[in-house]
Amino acid sequence: MKILIWILCLSVPAIIKTILDSNGIVLGAIPTVILWAPALWLARHFCKKLDEDSAKKDRAEYNAKLGRIAQCKYCGYRDKEVYNYCPKCGKSGMEYTYNHSKETLKYAVELAIAGRTSLSNQTSPNWENEIKQCWNTEIDILSANIENSIFFFQHDCTVEDLYWLSEIFDILIEKTQSQNLLIAIQERFQNVDEETFSQENFQSEYMRDYVGYNEYCLNISKQIKNAMSKLNN
Ligand SMILES: [Zn+2]
Repeated sequence: MKILIWILCLSVPAIIKTILDSNGIVLGAIPTVILWAPALWLARHFCKKLDEDSAKKDRAEYNAKLGRIAQCKYCGYRDKEVYNYCPKCGKSGMEYTYNHSKETLKYAVELAIAGRTSLSNQTSPNWENEIKQCWNTEIDILSANIENSIFFFQHDCTVEDLYWLSEIFDILIEKTQSQNLLIAIQERFQNVDEETFSQENFQSEYMRDYVGYNEYCLNISKQIKNAMSKLNN
């Protein structure tokens, strides 16, 4: 597509030059620049526009998979695209809202966890912030609809999911104050048994390398205990 844009844009001055040449007209330096510059500018402009459109489409698709849309805090404007400033009222306060069915929730959680695990073997200068962003996404997804989240822990949560999500149990319970959600998490954990725990088959390299059954149980029971202390009753 980009090649086509370049060919089309450059063919115009090329044709003009050919016509001029055939009439024996030779252009000087400045007319040559005037002839070619707009074509080069146009070609670059269209290519840039193409890149922006495809990035926008990717983001909209990603947001749709996560079941999230952006919503303005002030005027309520909603869009699949996220802007720094609300296109309707111009204020800066776009937030994500999540809307999942039981089916899409599983996918959204997995996508969020994939974002988190991709950071497990990395150290970038912004690493801590990136991890926090992943956690916030997981928390937003799992606190949007408690009933669906309970269903997720009862039916869809894998052994590996549970490990990564345990990082946010305390914040999730503090935020939702849902005892039933905590019970669903505890019951999922109780169903993990040593025989079916296969470390070598984990998807994340970090868990394959470092998280054996004992480490797994120790860590998750600690996180659940921590989450329990966040219930206010
Ligand atoms: Zn607005």
